[in-house]
Amino acid sequence: MALMPIRIYGDPVLRKKAKPVRDMDGVLSDLIETMVEAMCTNQGVGLAAPQVGKLRRIIVVRADAEADSEIFRLINPRIVASEGTQESLEGCLSLPALRGKVNRHEQVAVEAITLEGDEVTIEATGLLARVLEHEIDHLNGVLFVNRADLDTLCWLVPDTEAEDGYRFEPTTMEEAQRCFERMRRKRQSQGVPEE
Ligand code: ZN
Repeated sequence: MALMPIRIYGDPVLRKKAKPVRDMDGVLSDLIETMVEAMCTNQGVGLAAPQVGKLRRIIVVRADAEADSEIFRLINPRIVASEGTQESLEGCLSLPALRGKVNRHEQVAVEAITLEGDEVTIEATGLLARVLEHEIDHLNGVLFVNRADLDTLCWLVPDTEAEDGYRFEPTTMEEAQRCFERMRRKRQSQGVPEE
């Protein structure tokens, strides 16, 4: 399967509810591996199928983008328990470089089906719990900006002077929308398909 471009904010597919997977077949494993590739290429920690234009309930997640950490490939995932709260800056590959503070549960338990057809329960805390909630939101057409404190929205800007190699610049949802709209127009003019 060819590398699929990650859909950008404003693409209608990101707002639709994904359908449960009923049949496990070869096409599915191709799709999942394409998603893993897209996540890793973009240094992400998670990706949901709607982000590559497929309205199926499939997510791929990992606890760390730096380390060689385990990648979970989850079909029909659902949160069955949650506890505590955590607040942190969050981002999304479909809203490149945008960050905003989002409250999430500190711990979650997620039930899902693996590619082999086995039922699994994943108990996660901290970042992995956050990523699981974020990706499962995608399956319901919900984006992090729908949950973020919009007063905390900012751009992550590369900055060679800064200690971490980047700095934060405050922005607004309106400015971000205009920016993503320009990004989508540019892509459309290059012939990248959308729904
Ligand atoms: Zn996302």
